[in-house]
Amino acid sequence: MSDQLLDNPSSSTEQYKEPPSKKSKTSIATSSVKLEERLNHILSCTVCLDLPTSACMQCCHGHLMCVGCYHHLLADARLKDEQATCPSCRVDITRGSCIRNLAVEKAISELPVECSTCGGTFSRSNIVNHEVQQCSERVVACRFKQLGCNWSGPAHESDTHTSACNQHAKSPNELLKCLGTINSQQEKQAAVLRNIVELLSCDLISYMEVQLRPYRTEDFVTKLFYESNRFHLLGQTWTLKAYVSAVERHPSNPTVSAERKLTCQLFLKSKVSEPLEVDILLLRAPYDDVHIKPKPFYTRFTSEVTETSVQSIETDYTNRLLGLKVINLRLFMFQHKR
Ligand SMILES: [Zn+2]
Ligand SMILES: [Zn+2]
Ligand SMILES: [Zn+2]
Ligand SMILES: [Zn+2]
Repeated sequence: MSDQLLDNPSSSTEQYKEPPSKKSKTSIATSSVKLEERLNHILSCTVCLDLPTSACMQCCHGHLMCVGCYHHLLADARLKDEQATCPSCRVDITRGSCIRNLAVEKAISELPVECSTCGGTFSRSNIVNHEVQQCSERVVACRFKQLGCNWSGPAHESDTHTSACNQHAKSPNELLKCLGTINSQQEKQAAVLRNIVELLSCDLISYMEVQLRPYRTEDFVTKLFYESNRFHLLGQTWTLKAYVSAVERHPSNPTVSAERKLTCQLFLKSKVSEPLEVDILLLRAPYDDVHIKPKPFYTRFTSEVTETSVQSIETDYTNRLLGLKVINLRLFMFQHKR
């Protein structure tokens, strides 16, 4: 398809017939528009058909895909227990066989694109900066938003609104109330970190690099799950399991949904003679760049309670984790002796 567009015989004969001296400005302009359109088509991702906006990967035969679709292909293959293949040529897609295409990334960043709010034309490398910081039509909130003003509108109307906005005429008591709301929001975020700092002073801390390997269930339609080898922490034997679930649409069949979630569960494999109270924290492993939001969870293990409840692994990179051969996590245990 793209080859046809490049070597369109009719357009090349037209160009041949027209003497260069008679080429009008408008015909140059229209042909350059056509070139952009053709480049858009040639450089677009073979999976989502959009132009890659960040990294651009290619199969070993040169077919392009945006990095999001690349991770999605690998994750899909993992979930279906299949080999990922290039949608264009069916060659195997692996982490080792695909490379980035920097020339395409740079070429795309030079292509013009229209601002969705003001309609001006900018290069793709400048459009984000323009839309977020410079466009006079971009939607901004009132300067006094945190004091309770809900106004939002185009940036060029912001000054007019600010001078008319009555939020800055608030009484000290009203201002205190606003500050209280802001404080309580920040307090929630700080509480998580404070909790972790407090855990650092508990009786006993132990941690372990845990490697989760993919397995399939023995159901008729096999499902993907992850399990670690047995490991020893705090004098006990443990295994960690992880499950994949879809956030919406098909909770029972994650392979058809793009929105996936990883959950995990820790199992105590040895017998405890007295209750073992621990907080458990999962973080990314060293040399791994997949960020996991810290969220400690508490469990009191006894001879009857030998597993934690199922906990979500909070990350924005679930597909990337699923595309990996193994998932590496660092597991902390904080033991309380009360
Ligand atoms: Zn794509
Ligand atoms: Zn290919
Ligand atoms: Zn604009
Ligand atoms: Zn306002």
